[in-house]
Amino acid sequence: MSREVYRVPLDFRWPHRKVWKGFRRSEENEALRCDPCEGMGSSDRYRELERSFYDNENHGVTWWYDYGVDPQGNPAENPPWRVIGTTTRWMYDLTQDEVDAIIQSKRLSRYGIYQFTPSNPPDEQYVRTDRPWPTAAQVNHDMLYDTMGHDGVNTHAAIKARMARLYPGESHLCPHCGGEGIHFRDDAHRAAYDAWEMEAPPEGEGWQMWETTTEGSPISPVLPTPEKLAAWLYDNDATSFGSQTPTYAGWLGMIRCGHAPSMVAVDGVVSSGVDHVAASEARLKPIITLRPTKVPDVIAYEAIFDALVQDTEQYNPKDFAEWCRDNGMACKADFLAGGAVSISGEVNATQATAFKLRWL
Ligand SMILES: [Zn+2]
Ligand SMILES: [Zn+2]
Repeated sequence: MSREVYRVPLDFRWPHRKVWKGFRRSEENEALRCDPCEGMGSSDRYRELERSFYDNENHGVTWWYDYGVDPQGNPAENPPWRVIGTTTRWMYDLTQDEVDAIIQSKRLSRYGIYQFTPSNPPDEQYVRTDRPWPTAAQVNHDMLYDTMGHDGVNTHAAIKARMARLYPGESHLCPHCGGEGIHFRDDAHRAAYDAWEMEAPPEGEGWQMWETTTEGSPISPVLPTPEKLAAWLYDNDATSFGSQTPTYAGWLGMIRCGHAPSMVAVDGVVSSGVDHVAASEARLKPIITLRPTKVPDVIAYEAIFDALVQDTEQYNPKDFAEWCRDNGMACKADFLAGGAVSISGEVNATQATAFKLRWL
C-alpha cells in the first residue's frame, strides 16, 4: 500500500478510495475478455500442457513421498518431494529438446552455460562458456532437489518445445484473440481502446494523500498546507502499510518528499515507509514539528534525526534531548529504521514559545 502526495485544486472533489476516473478507461471502452482462453491468450493445447506441467490439481497422483535426503544421502530439512505413483506432472520428466529450449532461453543458470556480459553489444551479452551442456536426466534429477522448481519462464519454454515436437507448426496462441486475451465489439471499440490515455487529476494549490496500491485514489481531504494534511492523517490514524500509523512528523516528512514506499526493512527492522522517508529527508536537518493536541494547553513536539546528521554539531539528538530536559520538557526517544531517532514529548504554551525560539 504505497502513498503519494497530489497537489490538486482546493475545491477538487473525488470520492475517497474510488480510483480516479482518468486512471481507468470507461466501462464501455474497456476491452472484453476472450472467454475461450479465459483471457490467457494461449491455445487449448498450451493450457492443457501448462496444467499438467505442475499438476497442481494432483490428477492421477496415487501418493506422495517425502524423499527426506539430499543428493549426498544426508537427511534433508526441506523437501525434496518425490512423487511415487502416477501423475500427469511432467516437470521432472523433461525431454532433451525441452531442456535445450529452457537453456537457450538463458535459464537454468546453475549450469553456467552462458556468462552474462553486460559490456557486450545487446545481442551478444550471453557468451557460451566451456561448461558441459546438461542432460535431461541431470536436470530432472537436480530439480527434484530445488525448492523453487521451474518457474513460469522455464515452463513456457518447455511447453513450446513440447508443442513443436507433438504438433509441428501449430500455434500456441488462442485462435480467437490471437494471443491478446481480449477482444472488441468492432473497430470503433478497438480504436477507442487504443486512443485512451491516462489523465492525471487537475493540478492546484491543495495537498492530498493518495493510495497507489490500485491505479490511485484519494484517502484524505484536500488541505491547504502540508502541516494540515499531516495533522489530518495523524488524527485519523491513516495507515501507510497494513496497520502501521506513522507519526505526525513522519507524515510531514513524507508529504514534503512527495512519496513513500509501503514498508522499509533496514537491517531486519521493518518500519513504516513513511517514517523511513521522514528520516532520510532529514539528512541535512532534522524534521522538527510542534502541534496542538486535543487537550487544551498541551502541545506535542517531535524531532526526527537521521543517522547521518546525528554527529554534526548543529543538530544532535543528545543536545536536543538535553535541552528539552533542561527546560522541564519530558521527552521520549524512539529508534526508527535506518538508525534514525525520533524524540517526542508534550509541552505547555510557555515552553512551546521557548521551543519555537530555539528550534524552529
Ligand atoms: Zn483468446
Ligand atoms: Zn523521496
